[in-house]
Amino acid sequence: MPFSRLYLHIPWCLNKCGYCAFFSAPGTPSQRAETVRLSLREMELAARRYTAAGPLASVYLGGGTPSLLTPEQVSRLLNRSRDLWGYQTACEITLEANPGTVTPPSLAAFRQAGVNRLSLGIQTLDDRLLQALGRIHNGAQARNAYAAARAAGFTSISLDLICGLPGQSHSDWLLLLHEVIALAPEHLSVYSLTIEAGTPFYRRYPPGSKALPDDDQTAAMLEEADHLLTGAGYGHYEIANFALPGHHSRHNCGYWQRDGYLGVGPGAHSLLLQGWGRRCSNPADHRQWADLIGSGRLAQVAEPPLTAAEALSEQLFLGLRMADGVTPESCLQQFGPALWAPHGESIVELIATGLLERCGDRVALTRRGMLLANQVFLKFL
Ligand code: SF4
Repeated sequence: MPFSRLYLHIPWCLNKCGYCAFFSAPGTPSQRAETVRLSLREMELAARRYTAAGPLASVYLGGGTPSLLTPEQVSRLLNRSRDLWGYQTACEITLEANPGTVTPPSLAAFRQAGVNRLSLGIQTLDDRLLQALGRIHNGAQARNAYAAARAAGFTSISLDLICGLPGQSHSDWLLLLHEVIALAPEHLSVYSLTIEAGTPFYRRYPPGSKALPDDDQTAAMLEEADHLLTGAGYGHYEIANFALPGHHSRHNCGYWQRDGYLGVGPGAHSLLLQGWGRRCSNPADHRQWADLIGSGRLAQVAEPPLTAAEALSEQLFLGLRMADGVTPESCLQQFGPALWAPHGESIVELIATGLLERCGDRVALTRRGMLLANQVFLKFL
């Protein structure tokens, strides 16, 4: 089956945050309506091309700010996806929401439309830091959005947090972690701020800027998050993700396990499981994407099919992101000794340096390996 997961990219926001390098831009209600209309069309075109896909295990509306869509628009997208591919039992349906764009009635209507998991991009609860990030919401709106989501019946809520912010001290971070733990969301994604070239933050905070916590301070914040969140009962199940038992993001786990997924919308990526897999991407240009879909053609630009060696590399560096890690024996069986041999040697070396560890028949990152994961992944590229 080419895919069992669906990602819908809604690229529109109210304004552009200074640190953001995602494919997103300020958009109007009519631009959002056009994206929805064409996403519906794109799903139909994909269903015609990939007849053996589905039923869907998860649907993820990301962006951008998909919570700017009306609940009726979300409902149309979900209904169409269910009509075309069907949903597996307990299909996980996530909506990314910006706390500055939701109200108690809109959250209740999103729940009613079939969304069963909410990912709230709070980032921090400190107004001074939110302002520095250029977010449209403040701490009170984030707290209210969380309470309204609970009142609307959401029993699976994820909060995004960012550390290493300009002017953020270790005690600011501690305060945030304690408040968030008291809120008891089912899931937390914890990132450190990355300053990407081409963003306003890159000009404001060039490499080496003293206005940001340095690497050691940021690493200490991530270690604090690991310590406090695991102590509060959250499993650190992926480098940047923590969940109460049973509440890991099934959609994102699908990415790390190399499940097939279809990306719909401008800039969306897909992994289609044909042979060893084929990665495709839609143009990261709304007009170009809209023109192609409007003329009845899929907008996917396909990369060459993956070779077995490339698929094995992906399986290792994606699988190792997760605390469960990978199973060398099953990789060996699936890909054969010749392809496996160099990776087996890298694993032995990384165990010796304390970045990987063996747990039964699995190999996974150590705590230190989680902080230095990029060094580990380089070995498998
Ligand atoms: S709301 Fe999210 S996607 Fe939109 S500009 Fe800000 S960080 Fe980027």
